[in-house]
Amino acid sequence: MKYQSLRGTHDILPEETPVWQYVETKIHDKFQSFGFEEIRTPIIEQSELFTRSIGGATDIVSKEMYTFTDKGGRSITLRPEATASVVRAVIEHSLISKDKVTKTYYIGPMFRYERPQAGRFRQFYQAGIEMFGASSAFADAEVILAGILLFGSFGIKSLEVDINSVGCQVCRPKYNKELSSFLKDHLSELCVDCGARFTTNPLRILDCKNEKCRKVLASAPSLNEMICDDCRAHLEQTEDLLKLSHVEVRRNDKLVRGLDYYTGTIFEIVSRELGAQNAVCGGGRYDSLVKELGGSDIPAVGMAIGLERLIEVMRMQKLLPEKEQGISVYIAALGQDAQKTAFAKMVELLKEGICADMDFSGKSLKSQLKTADNLGARYVLMIGEDELKKGSFPLRDMKTGQQKGIKLEELLREIEPTC
Ligand SMILES: [Zn+2]
Ligand SMILES: [Zn+2]
Repeated sequence: MKYQSLRGTHDILPEETPVWQYVETKIHDKFQSFGFEEIRTPIIEQSELFTRSIGGATDIVSKEMYTFTDKGGRSITLRPEATASVVRAVIEHSLISKDKVTKTYYIGPMFRYERPQAGRFRQFYQAGIEMFGASSAFADAEVILAGILLFGSFGIKSLEVDINSVGCQVCRPKYNKELSSFLKDHLSELCVDCGARFTTNPLRILDCKNEKCRKVLASAPSLNEMICDDCRAHLEQTEDLLKLSHVEVRRNDKLVRGLDYYTGTIFEIVSRELGAQNAVCGGGRYDSLVKELGGSDIPAVGMAIGLERLIEVMRMQKLLPEKEQGISVYIAALGQDAQKTAFAKMVELLKEGICADMDFSGKSLKSQLKTADNLGARYVLMIGEDELKKGSFPLRDMKTGQQKGIKLEELLREIEPTC
């Protein structure tokens, strides 16, 4: 029996992990520079947490959740996204209140049972930030800027913010009504999915990529024209703050996001150099979610980044970091006594924090030199029975090809560590 990773999941192999570590390190650094602090929540939660927050009629909840009953008879779900978990955690541990701003961020795997396709996985990684306790547009702008500056730090070009408002509890119901009465006359022209959305979540139809639906929507009432004065002022102020920060902003009144908890301003960060699926990050304000999940009436805004997508964008724009340098010293040992001496020397190097490795199998010198080369070793120290007798050991600089005899105790002085 040969096992394979589950459909829609992927191993991140040793040759790829340096890229992931590079990306994760930058995320930690950038978000922390904005004053966000990392939070790590469990991968499993009570299913109801997601149904309540993301919305029972959304694709995520109705089709894509990994839900099971545990041995205690509880309904458990692997988190499909992190916002609900973070909100649950900050309420549970009293980390938020009305009179202070709490800034958190996370990195980790999420799970959705989607049809696997290029760049879309059932276990995928997201990083994101959630800011609580700030209702002003400054908070929205700061969250968006954290994303822009992060992508900028990777060298990603042609970044732009698509922005919209999905309205608040005052103006959204009015718009939903207006949209529904418009769509009622066009039901036969919509795609199958949108036919279903019409009864559950008509706003999501705005987002449909289907040609037929796009045609119908061209004459639909505009969400932008119907939002209330407060929503409009908030949206415009966010746009102004971004322009002030030299970020390109584009109003997109067809932008909605696939989760119910958003209120008011929502956004996506896109790279113009990519095709249709050009969003690298998305988010928005969710001012009622904390209360909905049992907390006080505390406003919040956040965003999430898909890391597979981000790395794909970096690959396309040739921004992946150069391969890391190899180890500093490889010790080639020939014979049992030589191996013992080599092992002691390797331990000495490792204690000094210098990357070192050796061969334990007694292979030929030629094959050991080949291993050293594969490891990208900067130096090779050769220890054999003859050398042990003479007390002089060849040290080869693999970069220059030069070789000279040294005493073992001179090694640290003779090398330039690469790590
Ligand atoms: Zn409103
Ligand atoms: Zn559609």
